Amino acid sequence: MDILNLSESTDTIILAVIIILAALIPYIFSLVNKEKKIRKLYRNAVDEGTDKPLLQHPIFDLAACIGCGVCTEVCPEGRVLGVINGKVAIVNGARCVGHGECARHCPVGAIKIGLGDISIREDIPKLSADFETSVPGIYIAGELGGLALIRNAIEQGVKVVDAIAAKAAATKQKENILIIGAGPAGIAAALQCVKKKLNYRIIDQEFPGGTILNYPRRKLTLVQKVHLPLYGEMSKQTYSKEDLLELWDEMIDKYEIKIQTMQKLESITPLEKGYAVKTNQATFQAEQIILALGRRGIPRKLGVPGEALTKVMYKLIDTSSYTHNKLLVVGGGDSAVEAAMGLAHQTGNQVTISYRKENFFRLKKRNNDAIQSALKLKEVQVIFSSTVKEILEDKVILVQAGKEIELQNDYTFIFAGGVLPFKLLESIGISFGKVVESQL
Ligand SMILES: Cc1cc2nc3c(=O)[nH]c(=O)nc-3n(C[C@H](O)[C@H](O)[C@H](O)COP(=O)(O)OP(=O)(O)OC[C@H]3O[C@@H](n4cnc5c(N)ncnc54)[C@H](O)[C@@H]3O)c2cc1C
Repeated sequence: MDILNLSESTDTIILAVIIILAALIPYIFSLVNKEKKIRKLYRNAVDEGTDKPLLQHPIFDLAACIGCGVCTEVCPEGRVLGVINGKVAIVNGARCVGHGECARHCPVGAIKIGLGDISIREDIPKLSADFETSVPGIYIAGELGGLALIRNAIEQGVKVVDAIAAKAAATKQKENILIIGAGPAGIAAALQCVKKKLNYRIIDQEFPGGTILNYPRRKLTLVQKVHLPLYGEMSKQTYSKEDLLELWDEMIDKYEIKIQTMQKLESITPLEKGYAVKTNQATFQAEQIILALGRRGIPRKLGVPGEALTKVMYKLIDTSSYTHNKLLVVGGGDSAVEAAMGLAHQTGNQVTISYRKENFFRLKKRNNDAIQSALKLKEVQVIFSSTVKEILEDKVILVQAGKEIELQNDYTFIFAGGVLPFKLLESIGISFGKVVESQL
């Protein structure tokens, strides 16, 4: 009887072990696979130079991290973080805009948001507590100063104007402010000038809106509570890209903001009093300058013959304007793929992507899935390992493995990143290296 009982309980134990293993083994495999994928993403980011965050980003207390991965799931920008060797790591830092959701959701408080060791950073301008650069009278507001997010840009735009107004009042001088850049920082600065009845002017290389203009269509944008001058609290928390742009337009119209578009800053030179600001179209004179240029820079050109043709563009605002066209999209990042997909879904378009790498490897999952299915359905053609040799009125010439490929072409869209503004700042004499506590 006892022997029977023993054998029964042994069977039960064996069965239990089998059940546990059956559940555990696939789970362990899935964890191993997930980590493999994350390591690959990380290696790709290192190859592309996009592993390091450029702006404020999560800083980890690894001793406290329990590797639960909650922080990796809550990021609104997708795969920025991953768990490697049981601890959180930055997998694709360039994608981080510093929302801080990871820090807010970490169950053990192992994450804080900061700029890291900025003393060694050559892309963070040295600023006073009033956001004045090392060149007197030239101020920086918004992302150019090192901190991303719309709320920070708005708050800094306002603070800079207040500081200029206070100085002008103290020295009994009339202020004459030129704001360069009409993103959230520049627009907030302009609204604060209107509110304070200050003498100002705002210019931009494009249209008002800043980086938001380049967000994907209907991108859900998180905006932390912030007070916009003459508007009040922006308290909705999430806005669509289109809602935000509409809000800027309404404010610009209502307060007759003096904005001049298509003015690309080229140089700033000191005068006896104030500065001469040269753009591609005009020269302005100002005593105080607010640089609200952001960090996206000027679109990078390919430097190929024909690039100056009007059919060549560096951004796509409205896909529905292009139908029954033969289109080339150059690039392999999210912007290029999103543009290509948007164009491919319009009636009668034939869309080709030319990408210099042999595969897509730094796309958001959503974009990667979409392009893979579009390739299967032959909605888009991709020519990998190719570069543009020349752009002509009605065609483009690509080169792949030494061979020329000629494509009929109505419009060419180039998404090759941006030329950052730091050289320009250096030429003005602005020093880099350390931000002040008040910026953080
Ligand atoms: C994909 C993506 C998603 C994001 N999501 C969010 C989000 O959900 N929530 C959030 O708070 N933030 C988000 N951000 C960050 C946010 O967009 C930026 O931090 C914010 O726009 C910075 O504002 P800014 O005014 O400093 O600069 P920008 O918005 O970059 O504006 C700079 C302006 O300067 C102009 N300019 C640049 N160079 C010149 C020149 N040489 N001459 C003349 N004009 C020039 C540009 O044309 C532009 O209009 C996101 C960023 C990206 C890239």
